[in-house]
Amino acid sequence: RDVSPKPVEVAGTITRDVWFTERDENIALSLKHSGNQLYKKDSDYQRVEVYETLAYGNMLTLDGMVMCTQKDEYVYHEMITHVPMFSNRKAKRALVIGGGDGGTVRELLRHEQLEEVTLVEIDELVIEACKLHLPETAVAFDNPRLNLLVEDGIKYIKECADAHYDLIIVDSADPVGPGEGLFTAEFYKEVYRCLTNDGVMITQSESPRFNSAVFVEIYDTYKQIFGKEKVHCYLAAIPTYPTGTWSFSYSSKGNAHPLQFDAEAAAAFSQSQGLKYYNEGIHTAAFALPNFVKELLNSN
Ligand code: SAM
Repeated sequence: RDVSPKPVEVAGTITRDVWFTERDENIALSLKHSGNQLYKKDSDYQRVEVYETLAYGNMLTLDGMVMCTQKDEYVYHEMITHVPMFSNRKAKRALVIGGGDGGTVRELLRHEQLEEVTLVEIDELVIEACKLHLPETAVAFDNPRLNLLVEDGIKYIKECADAHYDLIIVDSADPVGPGEGLFTAEFYKEVYRCLTNDGVMITQSESPRFNSAVFVEIYDTYKQIFGKEKVHCYLAAIPTYPTGTWSFSYSSKGNAHPLQFDAEAAAAFSQSQGLKYYNEGIHTAAFALPNFVKELLNSN
């Protein structure tokens, strides 16, 4: 992460130009920010920061990795929730593991049919930072229908009753730091056990281009646990994640299929709720995969 101010000349005057940079070995993503860092605290798990970026509004980062920004968070949060909700209309109980920015539960709570929505986030500073500086994603924390727990999702799932949830969303960061355990076969087996017979697991499954090794490995694990035919991949365009192409996995324990969904209801919902990304066309199109992604998925 390089936040050092660099003097630059803009319209004849010298100014200080500050950039946040998320670096990988070979590529980097930079966003210019105001220089006014809104939040910076080290929790027991990670460094939690909020920057005021010029192009994407306030941005949450964990250990120097972009988690969400005010101006494009809706893509991720609408896609991780409405795709499973429209293909599993009977869902009554939903669990989100991670997701402490609040965006995923904000979207889930739009669905009146859900009787139980539980969020298990390990780090209360993520919740605090978002309540202070990303109020649009944190808005659902005040919703009385939300059951918010600050604890380790791995422990929670181990202690969860069999077949309790119709939908489990793993809204994790990358497979480093506290989120590493959310990418293991042991964890997904517990998720499978806690799903009802018609239940669905959704995960953010990284970028097929940027993290192809992790991408291949986690899909292989999902297939071993849920069965080859029960695992589907879908994509969305997220400008502030490395490479801009991001993937989600849809794994069903029973017969729910992501493309057997109520398109009419999805269209009406998208309009009435004023969604910015998800609609019935996007739902179908997101499952159309480029050949290089199909090859990665079939490579094991
Ligand atoms: N949208 C983001 C992305 O893909 O970059 C991910 C959301 S981020 C808010 C993921 C959250 O998972 C973090 O707040 C982190 O603290 C939380 N987390 C990591 N490990 C966890 C665990 N074992 N149990 C519960 N939450 C965890």
